[in-house]
Amino acid sequence: MKFDTIIIGGGLSGLISGIQLSKQGQRCVIISSGQSALHFSSGSFDLLNALPDGKSVNKPLEAIGELIEQAPAHPYAKLGTSKFAQLTEEAETFLQDTGIPTKGKAEQNHYRITPMGTLKPTWLTLEDHLQGENANRIQWKKVGIFNVTGFLDFYTQFIVDELAKIGTTCTTHLINFPALERLRKNPTEMRSVNIARVFDNQDNLNELVRQIKAERGDCEIIALPAIVGLSRKDALAYLQKEIGKPVYLLPTLPPSVPGIQVQQQLRARFQEAGGVFMLGDIVLRAEKEGDRISRVYTNNHGDIPFTGKNVILATGSYFSQGLIADPERVYEPIFNLDVTYSRNREQWYSRDAFEAQPYQTFGVKTDKDFRGVQNGKPIENLYVSGAILEGFNAIKEGCGAGVSILSALYVADRISSKQEML
Ligand SMILES: Cc1cc2nc3c(=O)[nH]c(=O)nc-3n(C[C@H](O)[C@H](O)[C@H](O)COP(=O)(O)OP(=O)(O)OC[C@H]3O[C@@H](n4cnc5c(N)ncnc54)[C@H](O)[C@@H]3O)c2cc1C
Repeated sequence: MKFDTIIIGGGLSGLISGIQLSKQGQRCVIISSGQSALHFSSGSFDLLNALPDGKSVNKPLEAIGELIEQAPAHPYAKLGTSKFAQLTEEAETFLQDTGIPTKGKAEQNHYRITPMGTLKPTWLTLEDHLQGENANRIQWKKVGIFNVTGFLDFYTQFIVDELAKIGTTCTTHLINFPALERLRKNPTEMRSVNIARVFDNQDNLNELVRQIKAERGDCEIIALPAIVGLSRKDALAYLQKEIGKPVYLLPTLPPSVPGIQVQQQLRARFQEAGGVFMLGDIVLRAEKEGDRISRVYTNNHGDIPFTGKNVILATGSYFSQGLIADPERVYEPIFNLDVTYSRNREQWYSRDAFEAQPYQTFGVKTDKDFRGVQNGKPIENLYVSGAILEGFNAIKEGCGAGVSILSALYVADRISSKQEML
């Protein structure tokens, strides 16, 4: 099977480079073994919330110089200051154009509300999510929170308590009706995605409107856990129109309905642009000719190879098995690329769970063009993007989605400019 670019991994990073390259007329395939980190997403994309030394960051564009000094192997350091700024702008437009409207700008972090009700800095938040103006304030003073009876992945009281600390009063309301009762018979079925499927049905959405209208009182806005809009993107707009008040979503514990919706939207856009998405297949190995990857083999296609002028490795970190840790080493399982990690296992983690964990920064080494390195030498046509990269700590630095998005855009740009030169 012949393609211009073979992309391994269909998460945020692989999908973004796939869309960029397909839109330019390249024939691309994304081979993806399964779910991605988006299925667990908060509904916000982080760019840079803190420097490696722990200093918090409010203005990522201004802090990037200091980050590069502190962490020269960081993916943002490879981009450099001006490319970093250019790509953040490109990313904001890209999401908008792809049908994923967000609020926020790279110039200044804003605040998202966590499932525990606290406020955390971030870069972009899905437009329909409730946000904070700063660390101590949301725009609204009276919020009506509506939850579904028996839904345990949403802690209403924590949110009420935390918002009260910053001067917002909440009333809480429970919703129930026969379609939800049926789910409730088996408590394990009461998960966000299953509830969202109930609200994809128009009659059920109408019943939700009826119950909210009956109880909405004098609150300024309605807040719901993110359990609507799985398959219908207009669900929230419909609720707002029918209820006559602004309606916002609050994040739940995983799985994340908004994250799955982003994944579906990206995949749809990739396929509309002519890309081929193969879900449920695993890339097992590859062959090289000289310093190029010549063939890629998957579980489902056996001896039939995938060939392409370029390959992008976007298989994520430990979570998605892009990186594997065994008792002796951390390795990349498809190409056996060079991985940065400490040989001394004691240095993989800190015993203080709240400290930055060194293993988080382990990842695949690349050259300045994000080409994977094998035995110290870059592979000519193998690019690496996303969570698998070395040199950053997505949790402590709050930069996970930023690294995945910016490196994807950069890699797509490298591949297309190389094609133009041929
Ligand atoms: C649980 C979790 C939640 C997160 N939430 C947030 C958040 O809310 N905000 C934020 O800014 N950042 C978050 N992050 C950071 C996150 O890493 C990035 O935001 C980003 O989504 C990662 O995207 P990715 O495409 O690089 O990797 P992934 O999303 O991990 O995708 C990798 C894909 O590669 C596939 N794959 C792996 N190996 C193979 C193979 N051999 N063959 C074929 N396919 C393969 C996997 O199935 C998966 O689909 C989160 C990370 C995790 C782990």
